[in-house]
Amino acid sequence: MSVNKVMVIGAGQMGSGIAQVFAQAGFEVKLNDIADESLNKGYARIEKLLSRNVEKERMTEQEKESALKQISTTTKLEDASDCDLVIEAVVENMDVKTKVFKQLDDITPKHAILATNTSSLPITDIAAVTNRPSQVIGMHFMNPVPVMKLVEIIRAIQTSDETYQLIEETTKKLNKNPVEVNDYPGFVSNRVLMPMINEAIYTVYEGVAEPEAVDEVMKLGMNHPMGPLQLADFIGLDTCLYIMEILHEGFGDSKYRPCPLLRKYVSAGWLGKKSGRGFYVYE
Ligand code: NAD
Repeated sequence: MSVNKVMVIGAGQMGSGIAQVFAQAGFEVKLNDIADESLNKGYARIEKLLSRNVEKERMTEQEKESALKQISTTTKLEDASDCDLVIEAVVENMDVKTKVFKQLDDITPKHAILATNTSSLPITDIAAVTNRPSQVIGMHFMNPVPVMKLVEIIRAIQTSDETYQLIEETTKKLNKNPVEVNDYPGFVSNRVLMPMINEAIYTVYEGVAEPEAVDEVMKLGMNHPMGPLQLADFIGLDTCLYIMEILHEGFGDSKYRPCPLLRKYVSAGWLGKKSGRGFYVYE
């Protein structure tokens, strides 16, 4: 089997980026969302990013037009009935995701692979609500999708080798680098990143250093392009707290306990860049 027709569900920040990279690689893409407004915004975001690529001479006007031609938009999940691959990128909520997967299981052809872009929910549990658990897999794209090379490919315990191999091949066609990981809390990306961010917050909490100093140490000393606290502000402190809680609960290990200062910032509504204040203040 090969993948030709793809549906991306959720036209938000991630879903629109995923639709864009599939379209640029020549796949026929249906972009789905429950809300017309989100679909229009998602499509406009793709147009804008492609136009910027043309301005910067990274692609021609013709390449932009042919990528856009590959994308259609729909609010009907039933339009997945002829798709070979569906990638779900709706809100990070287990009830919403399992509902979508149960519907997709009824709608899509028997051969179709159902993937999720979840950054923290167990793929094994999502696979278990379908009648095709061996064809369910995680495709964890990084933000911003058109720029970042990594796709963490997460195997649920039920995922078959055939499913994994097809998704690995498909990811390479997107000019991305697939990395195989197994389904445990935080996968690899967030299991390594989030405790580092949490520890950076502890160093501020315990008065070891100011945020600027912590970030400077990690940038200049460890060659990180961005300090952990600046990165936390970009990701959103609420998201960081949520993922630390998933790790803490999933492993039952106190080494993943969220820093009280992180909790306090989130309670105060200091969520980072998106709220104008986190470890830094944004205009
Ligand atoms: P977002 O809020 O920008 O977009 C979510 C979209 O899903 C919205 O447009 C919403 O209208 C739509 N939606 C909600 N319920 C739906 C349904 N039942 N059917 C169809 N559409 C529905 O969110 P996002 O940041 O794009 O995140 C999407 C997923 O990607 C989440 O699972 C998130 O954890 C994961 N993720 C996010 C990032 C990130 O940095 N933002 C990185 C990696 C993975």
